[in-house]
Amino acid sequence: MADLPPLREVIARHDLRARKSLGQNFLLDLNLTARIARAAGVGPGDSAIEIGPGPGGLTRALLETGAMVVAVETDARCLDALADLGDAYPGRLIPHHADALAVDLPALAPPPRRIVANLPYNVATTLLLRWLGEIDAYESLTLMFQKEVADRLVAGSGSKAYGRLSVLTQWLCETRREFNVDRAAFTPPPKVMSSVITLVPRPAPLAPARRDRLETVTRAAFGQRRKMLRASLKPLGLDPASLGIEPTLRAEDLPVEAFCALARALDDS
Ligand code: SAM
Repeated sequence: MADLPPLREVIARHDLRARKSLGQNFLLDLNLTARIARAAGVGPGDSAIEIGPGPGGLTRALLETGAMVVAVETDARCLDALADLGDAYPGRLIPHHADALAVDLPALAPPPRRIVANLPYNVATTLLLRWLGEIDAYESLTLMFQKEVADRLVAGSGSKAYGRLSVLTQWLCETRREFNVDRAAFTPPPKVMSSVITLVPRPAPLAPARRDRLETVTRAAFGQRRKMLRASLKPLGLDPASLGIEPTLRAEDLPVEAFCALARALDDS
């Protein structure tokens, strides 16, 4: 480990009082940040893309793996804090002062790219949906979410947590929960539990479909998730029975491949 000041000292020196509006809940336990970097499988030769490095705890762990780290942060105070880190690992930390929602990530880092982040929860799903749209650019994504969102990402059909986000994500990626993280691990602690999830893009989507069609079908089906499919899909002019799908099922019972079949049917209709 490079000789670096404790993170609490970094926070004090750069006046990094956490801002709620930026989803700032910092990780100060370097064993935990090292565990996240290990789960991400980042190593020399990789571009690790970190969203929101904050005071740099996870950034340190990523740099320790030997990877090149591209860090995108919207809060200028954190960029100052990262400058010392850049000096400790010459030429391997590339900070970008930018809004991750607006930046073209693949253009910032050469492949192989792995996104690793303790995400700001207020924009976490928006960011994920955006990355799903360019998923071929990444080897993997290892991300901290609030546990409720993480549950949805890994949920299979038939489970309560299974929903639109499960379908849109699992269509393109294999998902696995690495571990849960208690509120107390963060400074300040968020209101909810968290989980680290890894997404690995599939070589090809689980079944053919157009994403916009899949979005339309899942919106209709899960928008009224208590209704039977024959009712919830009626406004789209879709008849599940004609595709061999039991029309009395509810959205949460339907596997991803069946949603893809519905999306293709929408295309044909
Ligand atoms: N990685 C640090 C850690 O684990 O201690 C900080 C994580 S904190 C949950 C989220 C970080 O994302 C903050 O540093 C915050 O300033 C940054 N952030 C919030 N919104 C952002 C955005 N739209 N683009 C880039 N960074 C953002």
